[in-house]
Amino acid sequence: MTDLFDLEHIWHPYTSMLNPLPTFKVKRAYGATIELEDGKTLIDGMSSWWCAIHGYNHPELNQAVSDQLQNMAHIMFGGLTHEPAIELGKLLLKITPPSLDKIFYADSGSVSVEVALKMAVQYWTALNQPAKTNFITTRSGYHGDTWNAMSVCDPVTGMHQIFGSSLPNRIFVPAPQSRFDEEWDPQDIQELKQQIEQHHHSIAALIIEPIVQGAGGMRFYHPEYLRQAKALCEQYNLLLIFDEIATGFGRTGKMFAWEHAQVEPDIMCIGKGLTGGYMTLSATLTSKQVAETISRGEAGVFMHGPTFMANPLACAVALRSTQLLVEQDWQANIQRIEKILAEQLTDLAQLDHVADVRVLGAIGVVELTANVDMKTLQQQFVERGIWVRPFGKLVYVMPPYVISNAELNYLLAQLIEVVKSMQGANTNVLA
Ligand code: PMP
Repeated sequence: MTDLFDLEHIWHPYTSMLNPLPTFKVKRAYGATIELEDGKTLIDGMSSWWCAIHGYNHPELNQAVSDQLQNMAHIMFGGLTHEPAIELGKLLLKITPPSLDKIFYADSGSVSVEVALKMAVQYWTALNQPAKTNFITTRSGYHGDTWNAMSVCDPVTGMHQIFGSSLPNRIFVPAPQSRFDEEWDPQDIQELKQQIEQHHHSIAALIIEPIVQGAGGMRFYHPEYLRQAKALCEQYNLLLIFDEIATGFGRTGKMFAWEHAQVEPDIMCIGKGLTGGYMTLSATLTSKQVAETISRGEAGVFMHGPTFMANPLACAVALRSTQLLVEQDWQANIQRIEKILAEQLTDLAQLDHVADVRVLGAIGVVELTANVDMKTLQQQFVERGIWVRPFGKLVYVMPPYVISNAELNYLLAQLIEVVKSMQGANTNVLA
């Protein structure tokens, strides 16, 4: 099944080149279905890592790409502009926090985080506070794999020790502990408060994934954390950066997760679902005040300009994807998925080897008591006709929003059977 050239020559995410994990060759994908080379079909539980919100091979998204292709696939953004970037920008400003007004298009989530961090540093430099260059963040966060994005990822799961002193030292506080749907514990904010009080002279910004910490542990935390964090940022002159790359475009039940807390950031990163998973595109949005302050600084400009900035094909498909989302009753659809996830998964929490089950919007998480053996589990899922990629102690799903009830029920029934079969310390699956 695994392609030999692929196995020997092509790197896959987080894999060994000596002992690579098997890969499954995909022939095509449509709706919530992934079809493998041998004709086997899998119901997709991953949306290709949060992206494919409308499923695969969507006729309207295909059309948007081919229409744009007739005009131009790409054109440099320095000195030139185009309709897809402009129309997408207008729509983005309608659905993102009202205080955000300026849009920087970049190529990937990690790059949009780099851009956000650079904006924060340039902002304080422009205000004659050049010492404010560091960042504070919570543990269990994830913001991407490029250098500075990595520096604000959880230091343990982000493997900071591998990169040693080459990685800038950031200030970390414990991950928020109060759960999204439980009572707020005022203790939760104390460490952030203390660290900001102590180090604010050197901190440019607090960066955080609002409400859902994704790849750092799939944790859902209390909106009060964000409200109090915002107050601290205002009190001590820190910018607030929200990384909504995973949480954006309806995934948590709100268009963007900031809405759960009604807290607006100074800078916000979006990506992943932006193009419906068709192409790589991200954006960093900021307020008029931040953008104009940066522009009043000594440099006079914001110092970033990627080659593929605002790629027209990506902008065109992002525009159509976002229109598709806002044109439908997407909230009712996410609630439909949320209800099924909660109904089906909740009982798993009673199993001895399940530590926790949590559901928010179109995200369902089963946290086990020990790490899973990804290779064995992945194989079992594929044999049962579902695509779920666990990591660490987490077996989780975030399906495309187009998934039907029947497909979702099938996906979850198979997942549940596999999780149940792990009971009794089967060391093959619980590593
Ligand atoms: N921030 C968050 C919250 C993410 O989930 C991710 C991707 N998993 C990134 C940043 C990085 O995005 P990309 O992989 O597109 O660089």
